Amino acid sequence: MSTYAAPLQDMQFVIKELVGLADITAMPACAEVTSDMVDAVLGEAGKFAAQVLDPLNRSGDQQGARLVDGKVTPPQGFKEAYKQFIAAGWNSVSGPTEFGGQALPRVVAMPVQEMWNSANLAFCLCPMLTAGVFEALAQRGTPEQQKRYVPRLISGEWSGTMNLTEPQAGSDLSAVRTRAIPQGDHYLIHGTKIFITWGEHDMSQNIVHLVLARTPGAPEDVKGISLFVVPKFLVNPDGSLGERNDIKCVSIEHKLGIRASPTCVLAYGDGKGAVGYLVGQENRGIEYMFIMMNYARLGVGIEGVALAERAYQHAREYAKTRVQGRAIGQKGGDRVTIIHHPDVKRMLLTMKAQVEAMRAIAYLASAALDKSRHHPDDKERRRNQALFDFLIPIVKGWCTEQSIEVASTGVQIHGGMGFVEETGAAQYLRDARITAIYEGTTGIQAADLVGRKIGFEKGTTAFAVIEEMRSLDAELARSRNPDVAAQRENLKRAVDSVAVATQWVVDTFPKDPNAVAAVSVPFLKLWGAVAGGWLMARAALIADSKLGTGDSDFCRAKIATARFYAEHILPQAAGLSSEVVNGASSVLALSEAQF
Ligand SMILES: Cc1cc2nc3c(=O)[nH]c(=O)nc-3n(C[C@H](O)[C@H](O)[C@H](O)COP(=O)(O)OP(=O)(O)OC[C@H]3O[C@@H](n4cnc5c(N)ncnc54)[C@H](O)[C@@H]3O)c2cc1C
Repeated sequence: MSTYAAPLQDMQFVIKELVGLADITAMPACAEVTSDMVDAVLGEAGKFAAQVLDPLNRSGDQQGARLVDGKVTPPQGFKEAYKQFIAAGWNSVSGPTEFGGQALPRVVAMPVQEMWNSANLAFCLCPMLTAGVFEALAQRGTPEQQKRYVPRLISGEWSGTMNLTEPQAGSDLSAVRTRAIPQGDHYLIHGTKIFITWGEHDMSQNIVHLVLARTPGAPEDVKGISLFVVPKFLVNPDGSLGERNDIKCVSIEHKLGIRASPTCVLAYGDGKGAVGYLVGQENRGIEYMFIMMNYARLGVGIEGVALAERAYQHAREYAKTRVQGRAIGQKGGDRVTIIHHPDVKRMLLTMKAQVEAMRAIAYLASAALDKSRHHPDDKERRRNQALFDFLIPIVKGWCTEQSIEVASTGVQIHGGMGFVEETGAAQYLRDARITAIYEGTTGIQAADLVGRKIGFEKGTTAFAVIEEMRSLDAELARSRNPDVAAQRENLKRAVDSVAVATQWVVDTFPKDPNAVAAVSVPFLKLWGAVAGGWLMARAALIADSKLGTGDSDFCRAKIATARFYAEHILPQAAGLSSEVVNGASSVLALSEAQF
């Protein structure tokens, strides 16, 4: 069993050199953040992840959460770890300072989140959802709601959940049926929510549920959905906890992965009605929930990066210890560890290259989010908001799909021992599987990318990114390092492929959105693969410029990994582009009845 070690050097490289921490700290709102501070935060978070969270990952998976008499108990050690987590201030990393948070930029908060997710995804879901709730309330709650809930959510005394899903309303939230009946200064909520992560537990003193529901006479579609804050325990005017609200955990799910995190069916208002308070205005619930969903989508993309990193570390350790066979051409002598076999090296490098590319895209999106909020220049804020919006479905969709592939390769490296549970490799694959489903499936992310993010704006942001990718060509052409220069042709071809496919989406979307929808997932994967290759090539150029000045071993490995990516992963772009441009009609060829 491997022990998690935070990949601090790669994280620091991506934050400082590739994404540009200096641009972030140059913004007055982030002026207090220094490079040393970032190192200190990452170092401490890495220790917490390795020493407190990682050791609970396997036992948490084996024990799972338990529901007895309506009470949910997390696996052994989780409650204590949560206490330590909030006592150390980790819950408040990204919260606004006016409510007691540390307001670290996203580009620092996301690597921290990556570490926790690598160490223990099931645990980390609780603070991740809590952060989404305090974000939404800090932005859209009334001053009274903010005062009442946000500081205690930020401190972690209370945790938060997101209640969208109902049996008939999954991807399609317009089907939400939960009702909210006005009752003086509050509403009474009645309905059933399913799949609610950390919907009930005893780690925090109170649970603050954000719930989508309909008020009487509201329009039938998404425009008739409102957002309510519904606490597990009602809160007295002095802030103390009052009576238990009418919310019951009816059951918890038996799942493929993330077994330590309780996934609850919650019954609201089986008795007199659950007391809820309107957030913002009636019928604008989906709009508000999107604040939380965008945050959560970035967070789930990071989960993908994290699980892939963890699976890679696990497979690397196994490959260095498992003895099997002799090296090619070796006659006699000791048998070798499997890392000596070229095909195992190829698998490990595939994992490593994919993880680094995923991390680069996810952190780039985090930096864009920081700039969209804090840049002093309005034009830059808007440009970065558009970039963030564009990248979100790619980060969420591509990083999570990749994490499944990476974790599956990790199982393959373990051979038969990967398929049995003892080695732990299978858990990463099982845990990774959900990331491409919740917070909007890959299909839903792809629909967002081709529709709202490209179709409606005729590709403006996408083509701006393509131009930026093309501009790297001249730098690659000037490089004297053959391992860097070798990436040029493949990157050029890949960028051409994504440009052709993007133009096809822009042209086809207005006249035949069905055709575009048929190939939207390959299109999303194409964008992920090419943007990943672009950032890997940029990383190689930076690493090359640092050879001889910093850690040359790290720089050489970065360049070699980027070259591997260019030669083994980027060529997929041509195939994906062809699938997009030529493949829609065959998807649509069979009628529903012919299946
Ligand atoms: C472990 C777990 C934790 C969860 N946590 C939460 C939580 O905390 N809060 C919460 O509210 N929900 C939560 N969910 C629910 C989760 O967000 C939904 O499962 C997810 O959004 C998909 O909805 P669905 O399961 O109803 O699938 P469906 O919507 O029925 O989708 C089934 C398939 O059809 C496809 N599909 C559906 N509609 C479209 C479309 N318009 N275009 C293209 N393809 C489409 C999907 O991509 C998918 O492949 C959780 C789920 C799980 C399993």
